[in-house]
Amino acid sequence: MPDHIVRALSTDGTIRAFAAITTNLVNEAQKIHNTYPIATAALGRTLTAAAMMGAMLKGEQDILTIQIKGDGPLGGVVAVADSRANVKGYVHHPHVELPLKPNGKLDVGGAIGRNGYLSVIRDLGLKEPYVGQVPLATGEIAEDLTLYYARSEQTPSAVALGVLVDVDLSVKASGGFIIQLMPEADDKVAEKLENVISQLSPVTSMVSEGMNAEDILGKILKDFEWNISEKIDTRYECGCSRERIERALISLGKKELEDIIEEQGEAELTCHFCNKIYHFNKSELGALLEKSTR
Ligand SMILES: [Zn+2]
Repeated sequence: MPDHIVRALSTDGTIRAFAAITTNLVNEAQKIHNTYPIATAALGRTLTAAAMMGAMLKGEQDILTIQIKGDGPLGGVVAVADSRANVKGYVHHPHVELPLKPNGKLDVGGAIGRNGYLSVIRDLGLKEPYVGQVPLATGEIAEDLTLYYARSEQTPSAVALGVLVDVDLSVKASGGFIIQLMPEADDKVAEKLENVISQLSPVTSMVSEGMNAEDILGKILKDFEWNISEKIDTRYECGCSRERIERALISLGKKELEDIIEEQGEAELTCHFCNKIYHFNKSELGALLEKSTR
């Protein structure tokens, strides 16, 4: 099944809902970064959330970044999405290993750590990006995003994210949902939803069973009338290029470029998101230096 996101609205306008299937893109992230299971789960959950939150962006050029930083051995997670749900990301330390939790699950919260924060940065093409930040609730990511929506956006939300890692380190199933109550929703709506969600199978089970995003929303919204408002594909896409790296080097300025040429004679830059290596020899750096205006 290709990765996809479905957006839905209850017909009375009280609930908006997103569900995503992201097994392929998280598999790709696992391969690019050679992540061990805990890092795969942390990165996969964050990428899945970013994909859905990217799909919520209104402007075509808008970019959303989720940054999670904790005091655990994983260090941090970064995921970036655009409005077409192209996502990319990385973790600081991909080879962290911790014992499983008593319930048999990967200890993502332990790997991220409890002391830290989750930030959501929206670059809407304005002078300054819009930044919302909350302290970590559990480091399990879905709970932290729920807290983010409650505190930073005053939107009561239910967030679930799940990544199932296979014994060969590949990703067996990945997906998630974000369900939000609109201001018109009353306590009855909230109660009904909470009831259903509390009895729902884990996301990874639903995805493993072959359910698509629409099927998952169907389970959650079974007591409501609802319509699909959008169905889009999502994928892992870095989008870096030699031209972009050149522009970044040029923007360092004359002094910095001269120092690199003098001290190193060449430059090798690795893209954090896809690990592609860009090499610049002395004459190429010299050409960039000529283009630099400051
Ligand atoms: Zn790249």
